[in-house]
Amino acid sequence: MSMRSKPWLWFGIPALLLALHAGIIAVPSWHLAGSDLFLLLCAILACIACFWRAWRLSSFSVGLQWYLAGAGMALWAAGQATYTYIDVHHIPQTVALNSDLCFFLYGVPFLLAICSVADQPRLRSLLFTDFIQALVVAWLVQSELFPASHGVTAISTQHVYSAYNVENLLLVGAVGLRLFTGARGARRQFYRVTFSFMAVYAAIAMPMNYLNEFHNLPTGTLLDLFWDLPFLLLAALAAWLPVVEEQPSLPATRRSQRVILHSMPVLITAVVLVMGTILVRYDFVAGLLAVLIGLGSYSLRNSLLEMRYLETQRKLTESEAALQIAMERFQELSYIDPLTKVANRRQFEETLEIEWNRTMRRGAPLSLLMMDLDHFKLLNDTYGHLRGDDCLMIAAQTLSSRLKRAGEMLARYGGEEFAAILPDLPADMALQVAESLRAAIANLGIENSESPNGGCLTISVGVATCYPGPGSGVESLLSAADQSLYAAKQAGRNRVVNVHDSGTLKAVHSHSHSVHLGPEPVPILRRPRA
Ligand code: GH3
Ligand code: MG
Ligand code: MG
Repeated sequence: MSMRSKPWLWFGIPALLLALHAGIIAVPSWHLAGSDLFLLLCAILACIACFWRAWRLSSFSVGLQWYLAGAGMALWAAGQATYTYIDVHHIPQTVALNSDLCFFLYGVPFLLAICSVADQPRLRSLLFTDFIQALVVAWLVQSELFPASHGVTAISTQHVYSAYNVENLLLVGAVGLRLFTGARGARRQFYRVTFSFMAVYAAIAMPMNYLNEFHNLPTGTLLDLFWDLPFLLLAALAAWLPVVEEQPSLPATRRSQRVILHSMPVLITAVVLVMGTILVRYDFVAGLLAVLIGLGSYSLRNSLLEMRYLETQRKLTESEAALQIAMERFQELSYIDPLTKVANRRQFEETLEIEWNRTMRRGAPLSLLMMDLDHFKLLNDTYGHLRGDDCLMIAAQTLSSRLKRAGEMLARYGGEEFAAILPDLPADMALQVAESLRAAIANLGIENSESPNGGCLTISVGVATCYPGPGSGVESLLSAADQSLYAAKQAGRNRVVNVHDSGTLKAVHSHSHSVHLGPEPVPILRRPRA
C-alpha cells in the first residue's frame, strides 16, 4: 500500500492522533501527565507495528531486524514511562536518571540490527558474538550514566544531552551507510524505514534537547507534538508498507561499498572500545574488561568468518572436481556413438583434422577407408530392426578390433556406414588393411538371406591415400574415399576399391586399384551423400 493509494490512512490517522494530543495539552489538568502518556502511546504503537511486521516476514534475518527495532521501541517506551513518573512527581533533573538509561539503551538493539544481522542467513553464528558485544555496550551505558555508583561525581544533564546527540548521529550515520551497501527487497526496506525514523528523530531530538537544557522547556506545551512525529512515522511505515520478500543483496561491486559492508560490524566493537576506554578513567578493571571482551568477541568473529571462508573454499574445490569429472564424462559421451560404442562422426572429423595436420608436418601418408554394409536394408527388412542393430554392433566391434596400430581409428560415419583413419599408412598397406576388414565381416557369416552377395552380410570398402599438403584439405581425401566406395558398390559390392582421384588431391599416391573379385576400374561418379 503506497502513501498515494490511501492518503486518508497515511496522513489522516497520524493527523487525528496529533490533534488528539493537542487537545489533551489544551486541558489544563491533563496537560502534563496526559502529554507524557500520549507520547508513550506513540512509542508503544511504533513498537507494536515493528513486531507485527517482523511476525509477517518469512525471512529470519530481516524478521530479526524488525524484532530488534521493536525491542528498541519497547526500551524507549519504558524510558518514557519512567520519565512520566518523574515528571508527574516533579523530580528535578540535574543528573542522569533511570529514564535516561532506557532512552540510551533503545539504541543498542538498533545498532545490532543495523550493523550486525548478517546479509547471508548462513552467517547466523556471527550474531552470537555481536550479541555479546551489544550486551557489553548496554552494561557500559549503565556504568557510564551512573558513575556515582563508582564513587565518582554524577554525570550532569548537559553531558547526558550531548551523549544523546552523539548516539542519534551515530545511528543515523550507520543506517545511512547501510543504504549504500547494495541491500535489496525487504532488507533495503528495513534500512530505508529505519533511516527515515532515525533522521526525523535526530532532527527533532537535537533542538528539543537544546531547549530542555538551556531553557528548561516544560512538558505539556504544543512543542511536545514534535516528539510524536518520528514514532508515528515509524508506526505508519512498519504497519502499512507492503511486506516485500527478502532478496539477495547485489554483489558489492564498488570497493567503497565492500569496505562499508565489512566495516559495519566493526562499528559495534568501536563503540565498545570507546566506551570501555572512557570507563577506564573511573573503574579501571571494568573498563579494561569491557575492552578485552570487545577485542575478544571481534577476534572470535573474525575466526568464525575465516573458518567459514575455508569451508566454502573446500566445498568449492570439491564441486570443481565433481564438475570436471562430469564434464569429462559428458565429453566422452558426446564423442561416442551410443549404439555401436565406437567413435561418432564428430570425433571422426576432429581426429581426421588432427591427423591431417600431423602427417602433413611429418610428410607422412594418410589413408582413409569409407565402408558401407551391403544390402543392409534387406537385412532389416528380413530380420527386423533389432536384429539390424545387433549386426551393426557386431560389425563395428569386429572392425575396430582389427585397427590396433597407434593413431588408427574406426568411427560410425552414419547409418550403416563406417570410416577408418589410417595415419602413416601408404596406399598398398591401406589396401591390405581394407581387405582384412572386408574379409573379417564376410567371415562373421551373418545371415542376410536376401543379399545377392552370397546370402550373408558383407561390406564394401573405398580406399584413398594422400600426402597431405598445405594446398588441400581433408575434404579432398574424404571425397576420394567416397568415390572409391561408390566404385566398389558399382562393381558389385563386397570388395575393396581405390580409384585414383584426378581432382583436387594432388598428392593422392595410390592408383586405381581393386582387389577381391573386382572388375576393371569403373568410371568415377559422384555418390550423393546421405
Ligand atoms: P547398399 O548395399 O547400396 O548400401 O544397400 P543398403 O540397403 O545397405 O543401403 P540403403 O541406403 O538403401 O539402406 C541403408 C539401410 O540401413 C536403411 C536403414 O534402415 C539401415 N540403417 C541405418 N541406420 C540403422 C540403424 O541404426 N539400425 C538399423 N537396424 N538399421 C539402420
Ligand atoms: Mg549407406
Ligand atoms: Mg549399405
